[in-house]
Amino acid sequence: MDKTISIARVRQAARDAYDAAKNLSGGANANYIPYLANIDSDLFGLSVTLVDGTSISIGDTSYKFGIESVSKVPTAILAMIQHSPEGVLEKIGADATGLPFNSIFAILLENDHPSTPLVNAGAISACSMIEPKGDSDAKWKAITDNIAALCGSAPELIDELYKSESSTNFNNRAIAWLLKNYSRIYDDVDMSLDLYTRQCSLGITSDQLAVMAATIANGGLNPLTKTRVFDPEIAPKITTLIATVGFYQNTGDWLYTSGIPAKSGVGGGVLGVLPGVLGIAAFAPPLDGAGNSVKAQAAVKAFMQSLGLGIMNGDRVIIQN
Ligand code: GLN
Repeated sequence: MDKTISIARVRQAARDAYDAAKNLSGGANANYIPYLANIDSDLFGLSVTLVDGTSISIGDTSYKFGIESVSKVPTAILAMIQHSPEGVLEKIGADATGLPFNSIFAILLENDHPSTPLVNAGAISACSMIEPKGDSDAKWKAITDNIAALCGSAPELIDELYKSESSTNFNNRAIAWLLKNYSRIYDDVDMSLDLYTRQCSLGITSDQLAVMAATIANGGLNPLTKTRVFDPEIAPKITTLIATVGFYQNTGDWLYTSGIPAKSGVGGGVLGVLPGVLGIAAFAPPLDGAGNSVKAQAAVKAFMQSLGLGIMNGDRVIIQN
């Protein structure tokens, strides 16, 4: 069915969703990374970018927070650009783990593939795949240039977060070496882990993440800069990964109740992709037990519900003035 919605209605839905989520009190900042534990818990931003480039920003949308696991999305895209979607499927996989993001058990259960580039294991493996191999600086440049192209502006390393995370990432070190044992690290192990840790420590705003999401929704063409960042064939592949594992062990519940594939990070960010229609991002530090932002989830869900949108609805959505 065709569904036509005015831009004014989308703006109002975003405002209402923000107001509905603003005073929720549940959840707590991530406490296993010292920097994140100390971020102001009241920060809250909601950003929407339509595939025509129209942008909506409400609240703390210019605050640079830790991108954390949302960084797994752009690096998975880069691995697909460099090695094709089939190459990523073969070297990492595309299967939900049904387990927490940092699960070692998930690797042991599937000692062939690290499952998906959107959990820690697969993301470390994806960092190891990034070209040019063996050159940490050049790989870092490729990773950050790709994020800048997706967002239309560059991310910025939060040095304090990088230090905080590097000095406490013992579980991830275990994951990286276990993957090496299964021949699923395709470059130097310590370098791959360090690139993963550094990309998680990038500061990003919800406005930037909404543009990244809209670039994916728009088939790889950034709607603000009009730059083609990746081939259209990659868009459904990355959206599939987001839809199947973006909220870890809670992904099914999330997609069932919200109708939008979304990826979370323990910095409090959430990035949602509605293919062909819009990208949405929200940020608020307090997390639920699976590491997903409480307010960001509530806001994105309320936005989708009030507009009657859903990826499985089968509607052709047209948003116009
Ligand atoms: N850097 C964090 C970690 O590796 C990212 C986790 C997340 O955002 N879910 O634990």
